[in-house]
Amino acid sequence: MVAVPVYRWRLAPDGLATRRQLRALGLRPGGQDVAAQIERPRRRRGPLVAYLYSIEQAKPVRPMTPAKWAALAKANATRRLCPECRRDAGYVIPASLGMCATCAFPDEQRAA
Ligand SMILES: [Zn+2]
Repeated sequence: MVAVPVYRWRLAPDGLATRRQLRALGLRPGGQDVAAQIERPRRRRGPLVAYLYSIEQAKPVRPMTPAKWAALAKANATRRLCPECRRDAGYVIPASLGMCATCAFPDEQRAA
């Protein structure tokens, strides 16, 4: 592995960020190599090391693929399906009811 510059904690140059900081910006390292590392000395143990990446070379967090969206939609649809009337309730069936509100409270729905 290529040696990277090591900086003291909080003394890293601008334009670099840890993976976590990138994530907070909606970014990911995107396959780039570690640009630098920072070390925080700890007592009686080895220093705490964090890797820094170039913000400039970072890429947006991978967008959801159509397959992922489909899987998510299917999972949500299943959770919205009322086991009583087999209809899409339009909302996730509350676990406490185990069925849609129309089935759980038929009288109230008729009155309304
Ligand atoms: Zn129902």
